[in-house]
Amino acid sequence: MKNATQLRPIHLESSPADDGLEMERLVRRELELLGEDPDREGLLKTPERIAKSLTWLTRGYDMDIADIVGDAVFAERQENMVMVRDIEMYSLCEHHMLPFFGHAHVAYIPDGKIVGLSKLARIVDMFARRLQVQERLTEEIAEAICDILKPRGVGVVIEASHLCMMMRGVQKQNSTTITSALRGSFRDDSKTRDEFLRLVQGRNGASFRGGI
Ligand SMILES: [Zn+2]
Repeated sequence: MKNATQLRPIHLESSPADDGLEMERLVRRELELLGEDPDREGLLKTPERIAKSLTWLTRGYDMDIADIVGDAVFAERQENMVMVRDIEMYSLCEHHMLPFFGHAHVAYIPDGKIVGLSKLARIVDMFARRLQVQERLTEEIAEAICDILKPRGVGVVIEASHLCMMMRGVQKQNSTTITSALRGSFRDDSKTRDEFLRLVQGRNGASFRGGI
């Protein structure tokens, strides 16, 4: 967690503007290698657009968990499960840099502290907006919530579709990948785990296909 914001290679001698121009040059070269003419009208601004778009899609590297949560952690004595379901999630797979997207369901049982609900969605976004694999994304979200709140337990489930499976390779159009990360009472106490999974399934029980 501590070094999570330092994953991006640091170019000490170049500015973000230089990096942007270099990325544009690389995209232009990519277009050439694909057999395209980067000077034709439709592609003229494509390198610039892709450079900006990629920077935006990976903006999670520049986010810091402390900044995101800020002072939105509150003392609270209640010990019931808190859950935010169906958090929209968009990420890029690190193997193909193609999108994977779906929903995250995040829950925890407080142990004296709660966090503003919108912050849970922002934590998902911070880790999703990096090059990822779904398994690690799920773990990182659970770990971050453990670090911030030291709760009794945390459960994270992500259901996602991967364009690298749908558009290429095995071309499985309707497959969904489900990953889970369970900590504390969510892992050790079957009642808590069952309640969590029941709440996750509550959205659309018929489409949820276990795997946990
Ligand atoms: Zn992939």
